[in-house]
Amino acid sequence: MKRSELMIASQKRLIALEEEVTTCRKCPRLVEWREEVARVKRRAYLDWDYWGKPVPGFGDVAAQVLVVGLAPGAHGANRTGRMFTGDGSGDFLYPALHKAGFANQPRAVDREDGLQLNNMFISAVCRCVPPGNKPKAVEISNCLPYLQEEIDLLEDLQVIVALGRIAFDHTLRIYRTIKGEKLKFDFKHLGVNKIGEDNPWLVSSYHPSRQNTQTGRLTEAMFAGVWSTVNDLTG
Ligand code: SF4
Repeated sequence: MKRSELMIASQKRLIALEEEVTTCRKCPRLVEWREEVARVKRRAYLDWDYWGKPVPGFGDVAAQVLVVGLAPGAHGANRTGRMFTGDGSGDFLYPALHKAGFANQPRAVDREDGLQLNNMFISAVCRCVPPGNKPKAVEISNCLPYLQEEIDLLEDLQVIVALGRIAFDHTLRIYRTIKGEKLKFDFKHLGVNKIGEDNPWLVSSYHPSRQNTQTGRLTEAMFAGVWSTVNDLTG
């Protein structure tokens, strides 16, 4: 199959996968929670019609870079329907991606805000908002095949950026248990590891949650270092 045909086929499958993800109800606890959060809402967003469904990955099908987060924020992606959109994590992430050339704008407020990713796809290990930001192991296991399929569809993938330890551990799990690679790396900020000869680099970063960015655990300079390393790796 020619490259152009391959890309069209991958794009079609990603669109079908988006439909599968957004209608998924495999985890009863998370279905109940995402819908409850969408019904009750936060006072500041009472006039919003919350998304309240699983949040699909989005971005460039020809991306060399995949960003993996943990799960939608209760009043961020679970409200807006797009990863890292409308909360503090996104307010830290997208300006950094814009500066590094991976986004056309620093602003991410809703699905119609004009944001486009360049050479990047953004996804997560769990697509439904979990209570306390803590998905159960079985819920991540239920959800991980979606991420695995996205990885398989990104034909040009060279670098995976795991935001936070859970994203890091479960991305490695995909390569270790599903793809049969023997891997053991330690999580640290700006860790750079090659996941086997024919697989992408795995770059690890602290998660851009408010808990990390407001305490100085993750600074703008530290985060910029991640994206400049990614740019170096993709040449
Ligand atoms: S977490 Fe994933 S597997 Fe579970 S209901 Fe949501 S989309 Fe489905």
